[in-house]
Amino acid sequence: MTIGILGGGQLGYMLALAGYPLDLHFRFLDPSPQAPVGRIAPRVTAEYTDYEALDKFAHGLALVTYEFENVPVEAARHLARHVPVYPPPQALEAAQDRLNEKTLFQELGIPTTEFVAVNSRAELDVAVRKLGLPSVLKTRRLGYDGKGQWVLRTQEDVAALGKNFPSTPLILEKFVSFVRELSILAVRGRSGETAFYPLVENHHRSGILRLSLAPAPQLTEALQREAESASRRILEALAYVGVLAVELFECGGHLLANEIAPRVHNSGHWSIEGAVASQFENHLRAVVGLPLGETRTLGYSAMLNLIGEVPEPVELLAVPDAHLHLYGKALRPGRKVGHVTLRAESAEELSLRLNQLPPFFQRKEFGLSVYPSGVAK
Ligand code: AMP
Repeated sequence: MTIGILGGGQLGYMLALAGYPLDLHFRFLDPSPQAPVGRIAPRVTAEYTDYEALDKFAHGLALVTYEFENVPVEAARHLARHVPVYPPPQALEAAQDRLNEKTLFQELGIPTTEFVAVNSRAELDVAVRKLGLPSVLKTRRLGYDGKGQWVLRTQEDVAALGKNFPSTPLILEKFVSFVRELSILAVRGRSGETAFYPLVENHHRSGILRLSLAPAPQLTEALQREAESASRRILEALAYVGVLAVELFECGGHLLANEIAPRVHNSGHWSIEGAVASQFENHLRAVVGLPLGETRTLGYSAMLNLIGEVPEPVELLAVPDAHLHLYGKALRPGRKVGHVTLRAESAEELSLRLNQLPPFFQRKEFGLSVYPSGVAK
């Protein structure tokens, strides 16, 4: 069976690696001739809006899925006329626009921060009066890794926007003084079966994920239930099939939903070594119509992203249960080029192993110092 994947980055690469043992074959479509999947699977180089190329790409495929959430909804709908597309295009539509996304949370009774749509300078003033400061102004579409966002703390920050006011639909969100950022990976199969990974704690630097801890330290059953209940409602409302990531803020002992990603997610990479079935295997099981795999964790994991540079493998791999994943991308500043997962049987052992990592990982950008006295208790 051949599965088509829109997007040819590292997420697609890891999906294919998880699919080969199940005798699944893959064909990728990506606008870049440098897409990393080129070295492991056939790749079509074309724009997502080139419908002739899409038709050729889809020929003979059992189904199409995606690893890139900004695939144009119209392209997904076009393909869905010829071949099953999972997750369904309405999930892309909900996730691509922050206003749609937050409105969906509201309709489903999922707590989220207060928000107001903003289309002009005058509307921003009204929105600021309504929500107060600090607030975060974001572009509704195409923002990622903190791009297209402005934290407005004072009236001066609001005024400073005046000269370069973004000419694109915006959303103003009330700033959340969160305790920490968490995410949950949820999966729903074609039969409606669901499964959930434990909540993960995420740490960012300059808007980019650097470190995920799975399960999240001090994770309570109540918090996990809250996250599962929110994500189950989203899965069902969207008739979702595949893996869905829900990013959350923990605040006052409860969760506020921030955003969803209708695909496998960077905060789930730990599951390759740290769970019975990885997010990649489960996404494939879901879209193909196989029973879902177990989401149970195998001990405690830390995932560290490699941004623009890679460590010396000999030193790293001398640390017990350290696993290196390199995506075959050219090294450029700010680019995700690989990740490391460190696994252990207990939180204390994980903490020790984090300290044993070579000096490359002990620099402040990895954020390991957030746990001077060890990770999860
Ligand atoms: P996003 O693109 O929505 O994931 O936002 C990127 C990062 O900005 C998040 O990971 C948070 O650290 C921060 N952020 C986003 N929205 C808010 C908010 N309403 N209040 C406080 N911080 C936020």
